[in-house]
Amino acid sequence: MKELTHFVGGRHVRGASQRFSNVFDPNTGHVQSQVPLASRIEVEAAIANAAKAQPSWAAENPQRRARVFMKFVELVNRDLAALAKLLSMEHGKTLVDAQGDVRRGLEVAEFAIGIPHLLKGEFSTGAGTGIDVYSMRQPLGVVAGITPFNFPAMIPLWKACPAIACGNAFILKPSERDPSVPLHLAGLFLEAGLPPGIFNVVNGDKEAVDAILTDPRIKAVGFVGSTPIASYIYATAAAHGKRAQCFGGAKNHMIVMPDADLDMTADALIGAAFGSAGERCMAISVVVPVGETTADALLNKLVPRVKSLRVGHSTDPKADFGPLVNGESLQRVKSYVELGVREGANLVVDGRNFQLPGYESGFFMGGCLFDRVRPEMRIYKEEIFGPVLSVVRADSIEEALKLPSEHTFGNGVSIFTNDGQVAREFTARVDTGMVGINIPIPVPIAYYTFGGWKQSGFGDLNQHGTDAIRFYTKTKTVTSRWPLGEKEAASFVIPTMS
Ligand code: NAD
Repeated sequence: MKELTHFVGGRHVRGASQRFSNVFDPNTGHVQSQVPLASRIEVEAAIANAAKAQPSWAAENPQRRARVFMKFVELVNRDLAALAKLLSMEHGKTLVDAQGDVRRGLEVAEFAIGIPHLLKGEFSTGAGTGIDVYSMRQPLGVVAGITPFNFPAMIPLWKACPAIACGNAFILKPSERDPSVPLHLAGLFLEAGLPPGIFNVVNGDKEAVDAILTDPRIKAVGFVGSTPIASYIYATAAAHGKRAQCFGGAKNHMIVMPDADLDMTADALIGAAFGSAGERCMAISVVVPVGETTADALLNKLVPRVKSLRVGHSTDPKADFGPLVNGESLQRVKSYVELGVREGANLVVDGRNFQLPGYESGFFMGGCLFDRVRPEMRIYKEEIFGPVLSVVRADSIEEALKLPSEHTFGNGVSIFTNDGQVAREFTARVDTGMVGINIPIPVPIAYYTFGGWKQSGFGDLNQHGTDAIRFYTKTKTVTSRWPLGEKEAASFVIPTMS
């Protein structure tokens, strides 16, 4: 059985704990490798290594640090096909979608190339007589990222690139379900000229995470994953004096107004709901048609499309989506579908019994579509994270607006309409962190920030964009005067501008 490694101090390191987790090929359902689960001692050794390497990396001028990212971008593009294959074979998303996963991460590496500009401070000359005031951004030291299975390239890169560009050393604890892409990226960072010890991958489970959360040398933790773990990480990191930004689960709604172009809406919806088997934090899992006529017309378009979704091997170029990540996820999603039926929702397309010929033990299921889902149902309130779309019918825009606004999650929302005024007012009033107007998956571009509200995000700064630079640096503010030799009497009052 293939045994994966950690990546510490610029080297692949074998696990020493004798604890392992199985990594599956979700297409066949077979175990393809084992990933070591680091002990506290192994994590502490990685942190010590990173802490030793960090000061000289921080002392490099930002332009030199930027050049490492220029090279890194080139190398990731060189290896794009290999990375996508590795990703697809552990995660189960299609090859083209896996390339998208890498590319969206790479966009943040490209953003990091602007680090000399992004790190510029503020300067005010003559703030008082002969007094200049300026601010500078300094790295925190060693920081960590704890990331989910569903974007094994994008989210580690969202975390690591800004952190490293700012002059920090980084410990990544990726998902134990698909750790090979982060390990490959670690090799590319080294090849790009990043000094050993600045980007480290420590594989593991709760033991490794807790070691990160409690070690005083870790100054900040960026987390992405499910809400219960996000809130645990946020509380524990904060209790240990660390900065933390923790992004959790989601229930993203798409509101469909009566004036929307329903063909365009159905096209957008089908991809956003079922792409990557619904295993995206920005997947649309609830569609809210406004008015019974809109709902019936939308359903007429959706039902045949959901029935004819092409579920296939993750490397099949004709597949719309592949398997779920593992058997546990498959069972969880199927049990939510059973629950929805028990709760009285109308299951108009049932994909539970789908099997891919030749891959009967793979973690596949077909698309499922529920109509007449009610807000009090658990299938509406909870995150399913699979190829299941719920239709919640609303009588008016006010009723539709309330649904995402009053939901406990607040990641993304989308509205499809041809009325600019309706879209504008909806955008202003809806209580979620990211909004799409005639865009089904409004993941912001790298130079804006990404983050959900309510139970979808804990902490007060978002991922990537300028927030990431603020999160991974501390601001030092300097008030400076060069005396001209005149004598001044001692003063016992606080200086003011008066
Ligand atoms: P998860 O919470 O199970 O795992 C995330 C990370 O936490 C992994 O590295 C895992 O090893 C670690 N972890 C798991 N249990 C732990 C525990 N008890 N103590 C400490 N660490 C633990 O999430 P997942 O299943 O890998 O990812 C899917 C979830 O991530 C979904 O809920 C999805 O919505 C969410 N997600 C959110 C965003 C966002 O930006 N809001 C983006 C992607 C995914």
